[in-house]
Amino acid sequence: MLILRSGHSQPRTHRGHDAKFPGMAITYALMQRLEELTESEPDRVQIIKKARVTSINKSGNTVTGVTYEYNGETHTADGVVVLATGGYAADFGDGSLLKQHRPDTFGLSSTNGTHATGDGQKMLMEIGANGIDMDKVQVHPTGLVDPKDPTAKFKFLAAEALRGEGGLLLNSDGERFSDELGHRDYVSGQMWKEKEKNKWPIRLVLNSKASNVLDFHTRHYSGRGLMKKMTGKELAKEIGCGEAALKKTFDDYNAIADGKKKDPWGKRFFHNLPFSIDDDFHVALMEPVLHFTMGGIEINEHAEVLNSEQKPFEGLYACGELAGGVHGANRLGGSSLLGCVVYGRVAGDSASQFLFKRLLSGGASTAQQRLGQISLHIDPSTPGKIAVEWTGAGSGREV
Ligand SMILES: Cc1cc2nc3c(=O)[nH]c(=O)nc-3n(C[C@H](O)[C@H](O)[C@H](O)COP(=O)(O)OP(=O)(O)OC[C@H]3O[C@@H](n4cnc5c(N)ncnc54)[C@H](O)[C@@H]3O)c2cc1C
Repeated sequence: MLILRSGHSQPRTHRGHDAKFPGMAITYALMQRLEELTESEPDRVQIIKKARVTSINKSGNTVTGVTYEYNGETHTADGVVVLATGGYAADFGDGSLLKQHRPDTFGLSSTNGTHATGDGQKMLMEIGANGIDMDKVQVHPTGLVDPKDPTAKFKFLAAEALRGEGGLLLNSDGERFSDELGHRDYVSGQMWKEKEKNKWPIRLVLNSKASNVLDFHTRHYSGRGLMKKMTGKELAKEIGCGEAALKKTFDDYNAIADGKKKDPWGKRFFHNLPFSIDDDFHVALMEPVLHFTMGGIEINEHAEVLNSEQKPFEGLYACGELAGGVHGANRLGGSSLLGCVVYGRVAGDSASQFLFKRLLSGGASTAQQRLGQISLHIDPSTPGKIAVEWTGAGSGREV
């Protein structure tokens, strides 16, 4: 198995996230295991870092490998291809998929790494694969605006947990304007409405109880200059709405949470109350940001990439954010990594099956010869385990 990565050895660290987050802990463990295998079984597993795949090679409907650039030179790698090059939520260059399919989002900043330029989507469409739902691009409501660099094209994501623990979103009048726990597209939509009303900037405000629960987050964001601690009076001054207006927002919110008032935006779940002007707060500026692309390459349930006749290419699999149509029109928080794991495993199984079938059907000229290339090992110390090994022309590499 040959793994080509355009990045460094470590997996993508979510901007603002690290190994304290379960998803990252899992990713690091998987990467570590893979790196161990490159050392213990270098004939089976190789990783080439900083290699950029530039095209998918095929003969008829069968994919034969990839072409890639490495150290300023062009190389090819032959074999079955499993592509997992991610989404296009940072595709700001020439031939941008965002510009083509969602020009309205092209001017936004992104939470993604600079690698999320839709290379895989473009290479696969080049050979006749289908892009589906390409206009389904998720705009996350809470990108952290750095006061020192407010127009930065790449922004940190404010974790969902901040609103989950009772963070309020306030406009430039110090008023709420949404159910803070609504879906990402809804909250982003409400923020755009405030912009039209000239009520930006938007601030996310955590009271002291929520700040304590989110201690790791608030320290992390504060350390990067993206969040500030302040008193209620300082907050009213910073917003410029006056203390009375801010107090009214907090009193109304407490009454809504107590069931004494109805929330105009239908919020139903409340945490870390009450809000009081006499409290301390952690505060950050927020802007909607490009976050995820639901659109991508059409695959079937075996993670096989489909051609324009809706038939699978042979020896070509796609998974992860590259694959379109997995999450519908607007993905729910937390489900991308689930999709990566599910379709990653499906793609791996399908690729192994493909190689095994090819070995059995075409790896040698006669059945007798093929049988000679395959050896079965039954280890009495591990009952139920059978190992199959083979050699010969059919034992192609996975790329
Ligand atoms: C800030 C942030 C927080 C998130 N939090 C969550 C969360 O909590 N839960 C959740 O489920 N999802 C979350 N997501 C979404 C999730 O992280 C991504 O959808 C997921 O990581 C995509 O994985 P992937 O392997 O498909 O692509 P990626 O992780 O984007 O990896 C693609 C890899 O392919 C490489 N590559 C690209 N083009 C080429 C090329 N031409 N040649 C060689 N290599 C190439 C890239 O360098 C990269 O290493 C978050 C996303 C972001 C940005």
